[in-house]
Amino acid sequence: MHRRQSTKVYFGDFAVGGNSEISIQSMTNTKTADIKKTVSQIHKLEEAGCELIRVAVPDMTSAKIISELKEKISIPLIADIHFNYKLALESIKQGVDGLRLNPGNIGSRDRVEKVVKKAKKFKIPIRVGVNSGSIEKRLLNKYGHPTAEAMVESALDQIKILEENNFFDIVISLKSTDIWMTIKAYKLMANKRDYPFHIGITEAGTPKKGIVKSAVGIGSLLTAGLGDTIRISLTSDPVTEVEAAWNILESLDLRQRGVKIISCPTCGRTNIDLEKLVKKVEKRLKNCKLPITVAVMGCEVNGPGEAKEADIGIAGGKNKGIIFKKGKKVKTVNEDKLLDELMNEINKLRSDYDENE
Ligand code: SF4
Repeated sequence: MHRRQSTKVYFGDFAVGGNSEISIQSMTNTKTADIKKTVSQIHKLEEAGCELIRVAVPDMTSAKIISELKEKISIPLIADIHFNYKLALESIKQGVDGLRLNPGNIGSRDRVEKVVKKAKKFKIPIRVGVNSGSIEKRLLNKYGHPTAEAMVESALDQIKILEENNFFDIVISLKSTDIWMTIKAYKLMANKRDYPFHIGITEAGTPKKGIVKSAVGIGSLLTAGLGDTIRISLTSDPVTEVEAAWNILESLDLRQRGVKIISCPTCGRTNIDLEKLVKKVEKRLKNCKLPITVAVMGCEVNGPGEAKEADIGIAGGKNKGIIFKKGKKVKTVNEDKLLDELMNEINKLRSDYDENE
């Protein structure tokens, strides 16, 4: 894959863009000023693999508790600001690591410049985030309705204000609920600026459809080499967003966090309870951080091939299964012992891995 070469910006010590890994972020849905609930949710998100977290800052109370939030969490904190530039200034004063801003709704140029100057002084990146639902009236009149071109023009108008103030620590997002429009907008923008892209399909809905929609949209962008940090927007617990984001990146082999499990869909040839076995394997390996691939396959058709290619694998047979490790057959065991034997072999791999670390 040829990844678009973007510039690199830093949220605290955390890099986005350039040659840094494609990162995963999310947004809390607690009332930000409820410190206990917000911190608790951020901790759950950190545990799930969230690398940057954004909180809504709708009022001064929320802005003023940013330093306290930061003390209690270990990932960079981004403030989401709309309408009131004073909230951005206070967030910076409180030590926030990044801002999501829509300069178009901050008001006069003078106010935007105050924010930009302070962000520059404190080395705080600003994401210019355009959503198809909030395009300025002027551009809606020009284009008739939200289009990719209107989104790009809107973003460029805002980016220019930052650039005219010699501010270049910029991240761009161009999100629509329409996958085609989103892809077109990022492709158009890729020819205009080289700032990092924050990608996602906005307001994707509830997890069942929203994860598929996000995977199609984000996956299409990533395979085109576009995207430096991703956020999945679901009407759900944000932990689900982070899990889905990891699954998308892992499915494209762009990141790996722990064990990758391959399992076959089962068919008339399956002679073991594969579905039950895979669920148990998944559960047992949920917190395993080994970067290995485990194949759990139903029969001798594709089983041995996949199991041999994986670091470790099972190829099912009639009420039994063969365990393969690093391409070699290790043993044949009865179905009721398959899970434990597989775990034993994974534990051996773990000690080999620890020794080599
Ligand atoms: Fe069927 Fe075997 Fe393929 Fe699984 S690996 S789907 S059991 S043919």
